[in-house]
Amino acid sequence: MKLKIAILAGDGIGPEVTHEAVNILKAVAEFGAHDFTFTPLLVGGIAIDKTGSPLPTETLEAALESDAVLMGAVGDNKFNALPPDKRPEAGLLQIRAALGGYANLRPSIAYPALSGNSPLRPEVTDGTDILFVRELLGGLYFGQPRSWDKEAQRAINTMVYTRAEVVRVARVAFELAQKRRKKLTSVDKANVLEVSQLWRATVTGIAKDYPDVTLEHQLVDSMAMHLMNIPRNFDVVLTENLFGDILSDEAGVITGSLGMLPSATIGGKVNLYEPVHGSAPDIAGQGKANPLGAILTAAMVLRHSAGLEQDAAAIEKAVAKVLADGHRTADIMRGGNASQHLVSTTEMGKLVHQALAESIDQRQAMHAV
Ligand code: NAD
Repeated sequence: MKLKIAILAGDGIGPEVTHEAVNILKAVAEFGAHDFTFTPLLVGGIAIDKTGSPLPTETLEAALESDAVLMGAVGDNKFNALPPDKRPEAGLLQIRAALGGYANLRPSIAYPALSGNSPLRPEVTDGTDILFVRELLGGLYFGQPRSWDKEAQRAINTMVYTRAEVVRVARVAFELAQKRRKKLTSVDKANVLEVSQLWRATVTGIAKDYPDVTLEHQLVDSMAMHLMNIPRNFDVVLTENLFGDILSDEAGVITGSLGMLPSATIGGKVNLYEPVHGSAPDIAGQGKANPLGAILTAAMVLRHSAGLEQDAAAIEKAVAKVLADGHRTADIMRGGNASQHLVSTTEMGKLVHQALAESIDQRQAMHAV
């Protein structure tokens, strides 16, 4: 299997966590005799320092020619005084737009070993494994007209979706549900919004193409409550842009740390993979960053850009094992628990590598029998 991966490590903890994710991908390539190439490219603050632009043309062109883009994070306090379009974050927004992905995937998983880390009780979170599919290019964030009339003290944003925009993201969600527990929850506000009525009618209409998937509809306000009461009831959750932004962050608390959350944006010219967290300037360069969000993001690269489901699952299993063995970066350490060992970013990366190698060895031994 050949895969050209553009590596946009960015700023702050971006390079630290991306390094560990790339090591894991290199290990998968070695174990499976795959031909993965990694092209490091500039983005964000470091790109501004070196080229004057948060997304240099060379980065964009190389990213568009790759099979997958793996991002770290962007942002540095020293650029905070610049206007938004000149800041490192502009590079991220520009590359997201250029790659054109419309389906943003965000898993929210309760790892048994971290059950005490969420503010929710373990009996609420236990067994949770949700995949959010958020529409990313439409809705309130992009709808026209939009304006802020400062004289009149009046502002406008417009929520707009076409049937075609709903169909393409809904098909992604149905297809993912088919590969998981075959349940799809579509979120809307159809009791109030016409856009949601179109959304609901469209999703219901295409459900007949996926007879093996059970479809349910939830209003966004009750969904916000159900997620905190019975999160294990959900499998794939399909949302429009704004609802998904809010609900996927809400569900992030189930896992227990921002440093644990991966994401993928698919459906465009090239899929974009990035951990959910930012550049964390407060801990950058200190070996404190949790690389598991980035490593789980690497698993998503294998699943969604290479079709290597078994390897993706092996990485996820290795992460769960390392956590079960008690290894913790500082963000997931819980005071007073003697069974936990504090590890650095690189130590955590090595532990996952080791657990992955053991599980792949076992798999190969089973095939050899
Ligand atoms: P952040 O996600 O960088 O950090 C929030 C808090 O979580 C911090 O206390 C940080 O130390 C902690 N944290 C984040 N990731 C962690 C990890 N992997 N391991 C351990 N702890 C972790 O958000 P912020 O502080 O609001 O923003 C910092 C910078 O990052 C800003 O410039 C912001 O614009 C940028 N940002 C970038 C992205 C991105 O690149 N996708 C996303 C969010 C924020």
